[in-house]
Amino acid sequence: MSLYCGIACRRKSFWSYRLLSTYVTKSRYLFELKEDDDACKKAQQTGAFYLFHSLAPLLQKSEHQYQAPQHSLLELERLLAKFGQDTQRIEDSVLIGCSEQHEAWFALDLGLNSSSSINASLQKPEMETELKGSFMELRKALFQLNTKDASLLSTAQALLRWHDGHQFCSRSGQPTKKNMAGSKRVCPSNKIIYYPQVKAWKRLSGEKLQKRCDWRWKDYSTLHPSTGPFLIAHS
Ligand SMILES: [Zn+2]
Repeated sequence: MSLYCGIACRRKSFWSYRLLSTYVTKSRYLFELKEDDDACKKAQQTGAFYLFHSLAPLLQKSEHQYQAPQHSLLELERLLAKFGQDTQRIEDSVLIGCSEQHEAWFALDLGLNSSSSINASLQKPEMETELKGSFMELRKALFQLNTKDASLLSTAQALLRWHDGHQFCSRSGQPTKKNMAGSKRVCPSNKIIYYPQVKAWKRLSGEKLQKRCDWRWKDYSTLHPSTGPFLIAHS
């Protein structure tokens, strides 16, 4: 019994240590990409992109679930070329995380107008046909996504929204410039740096999102038994 306990404890501490060290190396890597534009640009070469259109993520339906497809830089360049868009637009993408193997994940909105892009929004229906998916309102699809995608897309949407709303300096009115990772915007005229503040609940882990989802489900189904269970997503 005590031997078993000893093994279990050691195993538990091994997994805790492994989780912690993975977390630390991932955090370090993300920090590097946020600070170093060249490193971030290099990470885009081997990275994966999640696509949005006017803050609605691209989703594909499979059975009763939605999936968020990833695209490589090459696929993205081909897509933009096909729609007559400048590949410069890829510089509007924002870093949203990375895998344990340090594959960097980015989000790019193809619908929002941007100061750094000459072209306005792309044609949504044609893009959807080409990408074999739909740009859906996130709050409607949130609980039909797996917890990792739900958490990642929520963070991505909040960050894309923040950049869209901070294209001009509030002091000088001049256009601000985003760094490669999208971890800040700088006003070139008075050097004010703007940092995104993503609302706390949007950084909830997948597990907590699920708990919140379960709680709401229970809460509302007991309150309104006649109307049946339904879910509410806040933005
Ligand atoms: Zn300014």
